Amino acid sequence: MKVMKFGGTSVGSIESLRNLRDIVNAAPKPVLVVVSAMGGFTNQLLAMCEQAQQRDISCLDTLEQARQRHHEAIDGVVVESMRDQVHATIDRFIDESLKPYYLALATNPRMGVDEMQRLCDAIVAHGEILSSAIVTGMFEDGVPHLSLNYMRTRADGAGRVLDWEETERLVKEDFSSMDEGVHVAQGFISRDKDSGDVTNLGRGGSDYTAAILAALLDAEALEIWTDVDGFMTADPRTHPDATVIPQMTYAQAQEMCDAGAKVIYPPTIAPVAMKHIPVWVKNTFNPAAPGTVIVD
Ligand code: ASP
Ligand code: MG
Repeated sequence: MKVMKFGGTSVGSIESLRNLRDIVNAAPKPVLVVVSAMGGFTNQLLAMCEQAQQRDISCLDTLEQARQRHHEAIDGVVVESMRDQVHATIDRFIDESLKPYYLALATNPRMGVDEMQRLCDAIVAHGEILSSAIVTGMFEDGVPHLSLNYMRTRADGAGRVLDWEETERLVKEDFSSMDEGVHVAQGFISRDKDSGDVTNLGRGGSDYTAAILAALLDAEALEIWTDVDGFMTADPRTHPDATVIPQMTYAQAQEMCDAGAKVIYPPTIAPVAMKHIPVWVKNTFNPAAPGTVIVD
């Protein structure tokens, strides 16, 4: 089984979602597809949190535009028999979760900083919850998973880290019967193992989710589908002669990520390196390009 992670631009438009469908259809089944939020939506969800905290409820207009964008994607890519159901799912999360959460932020003057933070963490998780509902509905044999059910974090100083033990136990349970089909899971999102609060793995964390799932499920490969052809020898914006690096080691990839190469989120490398799982970086918009493979 391989894990295929698609980033924000790869799930961000009808055109890119159709590429995703072709790429996933060509893969052997079962397969596990991990998705980011539709491109730009995480930033919007967070910007709306700030607006709501300033008691500016014009954020609800932005929310309506986002609703529209998701509905258009559904009409463009979801299989006909599933469309009504996915439309209803999107509306339900917007009307029964996001809207009341934003209104609570905007209208509750007594809300403490911690409570606001908890609410914003719950809000920002909806990017991946909505995109994954659409992607699941694109496949007749789509199987939904909910990362809030098995990805666990715990407090670590001022921040939080993945709780490997609890996550391993829950992932093995949740994915115990994966004989066939297109399994779809959200990147990025998690819960605190003690409080049960919704948390996340940090901005760009969907790559990390995919690597964790690949490691825990002993995947034969991890594919990171993005909007560039792979790791480059230099930044192509400043070095037009930069070329794609066809193959690199985990150590080299880690070094480039740590140095600021934005291709993948730095914590992604360790879990797959530990299990010697090859990582392919591929371009959703140019799937024929060979990409970069990261190996021992
Ligand atoms: N949607 C999240 C972000 O924009 C996680 C991700 O895309 O990797 O940071
Ligand atoms: Mg990313």
